[in-house]
Amino acid sequence: MAQTRGNLFILSAPSGAGKSSLISALLNKHSDMKVSVSHTTRSPRPGEENGVHYHFVSVEEFKALIEKNDFFEWAQVFDNYYGTSKQAIETQLAAGIDVFLDIDWQGAQQIRKLVEDVETIFILPPSKEELESRLTNRGQDSSEVIAGRMAKAQSETSHYNEYDYVVVNDDFDTALAEIETIVMAKRLSLKSQAQRHQTLLDNLLK
Ligand code: GDP
Ligand code: ADP
Ligand code: 5GP
Repeated sequence: MAQTRGNLFILSAPSGAGKSSLISALLNKHSDMKVSVSHTTRSPRPGEENGVHYHFVSVEEFKALIEKNDFFEWAQVFDNYYGTSKQAIETQLAAGIDVFLDIDWQGAQQIRKLVEDVETIFILPPSKEELESRLTNRGQDSSEVIAGRMAKAQSETSHYNEYDYVVVNDDFDTALAEIETIVMAKRLSLKSQAQRHQTLLDNLLK
C-alpha cells in the first residue's frame, strides 16, 4: 500500500474549553495520531514537562527562532509568544501520522493561508459559567490569569465561524466521539482513499 500523507487538524477554543484534554484522550486511543508540541515563552504549569507539553523558551530564544524562519506560524496570546515549528509537523505528516495543532485563531488564520488541506475544529464550552469553573478547577492558573482568560474568551469565540467544524464539549466522551468522527471522515475522503488504495483501484479498473 502506498504511504499516505497524514492529515493536519487544528483545534481552537477559549482557554479551559477542553482542547488539551480532548487531544490527549484522542492520542491515548490512537497510535497513528500526534499533537504538535509548540514553543512558548510562558512559564511551565505544575506538571508540565519541557518537550512534552511545550518547548519552554525565553523571549530571546523565541525571537531567534522567528529570525531563523523556523516557525510555521506564531502568535502572541495572553502576553506570551506561542509558535508551531515547521519541524513539529512535517516529519509526522510525511510518515502518514495525523497531526493535531492546539493553537489559537491567529495561528489558524496563518495556516489556512499556507496549507490548502487542513481541517479546523472549534471547541465550545457548554456555558460561560462552566468555562470559568473548569479554569478554576484545573487549579493551575492564578485568579488574575483566570480573569484574563475569561475576559479573552468572548473575542476568541467570535472566530468560531472561520472553522470547518464546531464541537460543544459538554459531555467529554460525546465531544471525543465527535472529533473522532471528523478524523475518520477525513481519512475516508476521496483524496485520501484514492491515494491509500491506488493498487486496489488499479486492479479493479483494469
Ligand atoms: P490553554 O488555552 O489553557 O490550553 O492554555 P495554553 O497556555 O496552553 O495556550 C494558550 C493559547 O495559545 C491557546 O489559545 C492556544 O491554542 C494557543 N497556542 C498554543 N500553542 C500555539 C501555537 O503553537 N501557535 C499558536 N498560534 N497558538 C498557540
Ligand atoms: P484547554 O486546553 O482548552 O485550556 P483543558 O483541556 O485544560 O482546556 O480543560 C480545562 C479543564 O476542564 C481541565 O481541568 C479538564 O479536566 C476539564 N474538562 C475538560 N473537558 C471537560 C468536560 N467535558 N467536562 C468537565 N470537565 C472538563
Ligand atoms: P496555555 O497557555 O493555556 O497553554 O495556552 C493558551 C492558548 O495558546 C491556547 O488557546 C492555545 O491553543 C494557544 N497556543 C498554544 N500553542 C500555540 C501555538 O503554537 N500557536 C498558537 N497560535 N497558539 C498556541
